[in-house]
Amino acid sequence: MDSRFFDSGFASLEAYVPGEQPKDRKYIKLNTNESPFPPSPAVVEAINGDAASLLRLYSDPTSSDVKQAIADFYGIDTAKVFVTNGSDEGLSFLFMAFSEKGTAFADITYGFYSVFADLYHKDTTIVPLRGDFSINIDDYDGIDKTVFIANPNAPTGMILGLDMIEDLITRNPDRLIVVDEAYVDFGGESAVALTEKYDNVAVVQTFSKSRSLAGARLGFVIANPAIIAGLEKIKYSTNPYNVNRLTALAGKLSMGDREYFDKTRNTIIENRTWTMNELRARGFEMTDSKTNFIFVRHPELSGEAYFLALRQRGILVRHFTGKRICEYNRITVGSREEMEALIAATDEILREAGVNHG
Ligand code: PMP
Repeated sequence: MDSRFFDSGFASLEAYVPGEQPKDRKYIKLNTNESPFPPSPAVVEAINGDAASLLRLYSDPTSSDVKQAIADFYGIDTAKVFVTNGSDEGLSFLFMAFSEKGTAFADITYGFYSVFADLYHKDTTIVPLRGDFSINIDDYDGIDKTVFIANPNAPTGMILGLDMIEDLITRNPDRLIVVDEAYVDFGGESAVALTEKYDNVAVVQTFSKSRSLAGARLGFVIANPAIIAGLEKIKYSTNPYNVNRLTALAGKLSMGDREYFDKTRNTIIENRTWTMNELRARGFEMTDSKTNFIFVRHPELSGEAYFLALRQRGILVRHFTGKRICEYNRITVGSREEMEALIAATDEILREAGVNHG
């Protein structure tokens, strides 16, 4: 029960539930879309060096080194970059301070959007995905609210073409369009270039997936300088030192290691293709994922049964209970060895369930 001192305005808030991190045994973790690879060797070397001794000092509130590295990577001005404690923080601020008329997002998308909308008491319009889980931008016509679109979307993994994103932006010049690109490095097309042309778009990205830094908590927003100034204002009014020293160092070095970034993300893409083919050959159906996860169902095995049977075999994936997606599991693409273990376990599960896949 809530404390009697807890503000009643938050009594009905349903908090975000992160993917489980059980400690009862060793699991192959394919449930929170982390990278199977360590961060860039440059990061590991620097953090293992004397960086820790500087922790007695506050971090740089302007995150200028990381900001510069991000600006260099995208060839944009640093005034267009805001650095955050995980991309969740960037999303949080955009819900908090850039959504005065309310928020609009899909029925099937990143689960934190509805939590932020509740937390900040935003009037929200839920826009259902089409039957094939696609986003149709016509469905956003006439909604006078800040739009949040995960592109690629989660947990479906599907992309909306950049031409459609641009259409959404130009059709709604007085609405802010937030494009959450947490998974864009695995096959999507970034909308960062559109922030040079339009002042009503904000792109949110993370170091958690394609840069192997989920535990460091680092993300960023790219938008026109006026939006960035607003975000800075919120940061200096909540937590000025939002990015710690070790994370800032890790972020700068990982952004600078283009070669490692390309090598690891390309391996994930290869492993995704391999796993999708293997699962398809076993009768699974799946969306066209452009992310580091795949979204699958089997016509003869319930989503829950597959989830539980994998768990029993030490493999964690993410199962959702929403009506439209309860037959699906979201499986993070890991190393080739992890994917082979997934397929071996799947063969056993299908055999035990009496599913004949030739
Ligand atoms: N957006 C989407 C679509 C996500 O799936 C996630 C990861 N859970 C995030 C944002 C947040 O990631 P992080 O806070 O680790 O940057």
